[in-house]
Amino acid sequence: MKIYCLLFTVYCLLSNCRWLIANSEFIQVPMVIHVHSNFSDGEHSVEDIAQIAERKGIKSVIFSDHALMRWEYGLWPLQDILKKRVDKNSVLKYGAKRYFQKIEEVQKKYPEILFLPGVESAPFYYWSGKHFKYHLTLHNWHKHLLITGLNHPNDYENLPLVSNPNAGVWSFKSIVLLWPLSLLVIGYWVLVKKKERKLTFGSQILIAHSRAYKVLGIVIILVGLLFLVNNYPYKYFPYDQYHGDKGVGPYQNLIQYVNAKGGVIFWAHPEAPNWEKPQEINGITLQTPIYPGDLLKTNNYTGFAILYEGYKEVGTPGGIWDQILNQYCKGIREKPIWALGELDYKAEGYLGTYLDSIQNVLLMEKQGSGKVGERVSEEEAIECLKKGRFYVLQKAKDYVVKLEEFKIETEEGKAIMGEEIRYSKPPKIKFEIKGEYELPKVLTPIKIKLIRGGEIIKIFEQHLPLEIEYIDNIESSDKTYYRLDITGPQGGKVFSNPIFVIK
Ligand SMILES: [Zn+2]
Repeated sequence: MKIYCLLFTVYCLLSNCRWLIANSEFIQVPMVIHVHSNFSDGEHSVEDIAQIAERKGIKSVIFSDHALMRWEYGLWPLQDILKKRVDKNSVLKYGAKRYFQKIEEVQKKYPEILFLPGVESAPFYYWSGKHFKYHLTLHNWHKHLLITGLNHPNDYENLPLVSNPNAGVWSFKSIVLLWPLSLLVIGYWVLVKKKERKLTFGSQILIAHSRAYKVLGIVIILVGLLFLVNNYPYKYFPYDQYHGDKGVGPYQNLIQYVNAKGGVIFWAHPEAPNWEKPQEINGITLQTPIYPGDLLKTNNYTGFAILYEGYKEVGTPGGIWDQILNQYCKGIREKPIWALGELDYKAEGYLGTYLDSIQNVLLMEKQGSGKVGERVSEEEAIECLKKGRFYVLQKAKDYVVKLEEFKIETEEGKAIMGEEIRYSKPPKIKFEIKGEYELPKVLTPIKIKLIRGGEIIKIFEQHLPLEIEYIDNIESSDKTYYRLDITGPQGGKVFSNPIFVIK
């Protein structure tokens, strides 16, 4: 008997690890992301935020201070010397090392909560208009991505962002940036070369040395030195703010960088309308159109923020998110993308946002570090984000909707969010939803849209708590997915991540 158990365990480990995961119990770990501290433009210190998190029962906080808040406009051709710079508080201004240290200190004081460093980044911006006519426009400054899971402060210091001097790399193209050296050589040659003119007066010959050549030599050397300073530190970076819109290039470049370093990267607020119309600040016009379409044009990022500003075009049933998930199912895309809930937290109650207003509930295996009462490990939290093993919730005023369980059962076993499972008979979709109430029960029913491959296949309207088992007589044999879109009264919301099925 023992030998069979052993063989079965070995078989499970070798053949189908997912089976083990899917059949284990999970605990739910509320995590919040896009939290600004006073390291950038937030009001509270890292320590204050930790205290608030403890009070509110948040088990993981991902700090997302601005990576860089630096805009520069320089005059051609010495754009890096003759420039105006605005440099507001940011992680790179004060140093990623200090940011890490600060968060580590707080981690020691609050061992039961996981605190992670991360950033909100604007990899690119560009100028239009003429400075001397006083109408410059700063474009796309508010097109943002959230990054976390990079292990070393240097990985943040070197983020490929326009106006980050560490962004570039040494390459053969650096040689081009050293072109002013040729001016030094030419200047020196002009300076030392004796220029003589022979003047003949009758039988007398006079030799005149020209001072003009000396002056010319010195001028050429000085110009060379100026450009050498301008081009410092001679690192090559393919993007700058002076050559117009570069499409999604700089954003895809950042995504590749973060993936190579093992981090996670989410598009932030793709539909935020705040900067849609041009706004003037200190004589400069700022404008960032909404960018849901960029989610289709980029790939290999971890996901996007469905809340607050990513639902109307992206997260809605049949929207851009579903288009992308279908591309993945058809093999057009390498990876699926996950929905995330972001806070854009500046202070407790600022613009109606509190630290627990929008949460990402991570599903942690009980056998792992997610044991009740114990802190989850960084590796597991990042793994949940990478694999889509979480759902997004928005708290309502008097209650919270919780997705206690969401799984798909087939003859093959069970699958949870982010996983894939095979079926031959119609798959069984199971979910369990509960409400946590602060006031007497909210009686209005909640609405659950069950979505398959971007289409709503069933709408349930029921009071909480509820448990549903639905067998889907699916006709097509293509790979597809199921997800839940749940709305309740007073703005209570839950968005699950998808579970994939294949015949
Ligand atoms: Zn932002």
